[in-house]
Amino acid sequence: MTTQPDHDTSFGGWRACDVCGEPIGTTAEAALALRGPLFEERRANLANPSPEKAPDPGLVPWDWGHRECVDAMEPMHVVPGDQMDTLPRMMARTLQLLDEPWFLETAWEDAVRRFYRIPLE
Ligand SMILES: [Zn+2]
Repeated sequence: MTTQPDHDTSFGGWRACDVCGEPIGTTAEAALALRGPLFEERRANLANPSPEKAPDPGLVPWDWGHRECVDAMEPMHVVPGDQMDTLPRMMARTLQLLDEPWFLETAWEDAVRRFYRIPLE
């Protein structure tokens, strides 16, 4: 029996740190973080759309980085890398985050799809 590509549930790895630009060596030193001011910007854009800007302010991106780098940004929320290093753990984090009132304003799907090959159907 051969393994189909969409059955590969292994972790896809981290890209370079959004803060310092250096590679992220291990999951233990990695984290995803949200910056509070980006929510304020997004909500302000929704309330008062500017004619020069696109009407859709988009979703708040998660910053990828070293745990130390993202902590220095004083993020409003951090998910440590070792809590997302398997697909079951990623699913557990997703269910946990769904309880947060701001969750659907974030680009969590982008992060999940970057880390894991989720089948389209
Ligand atoms: Zn860094």
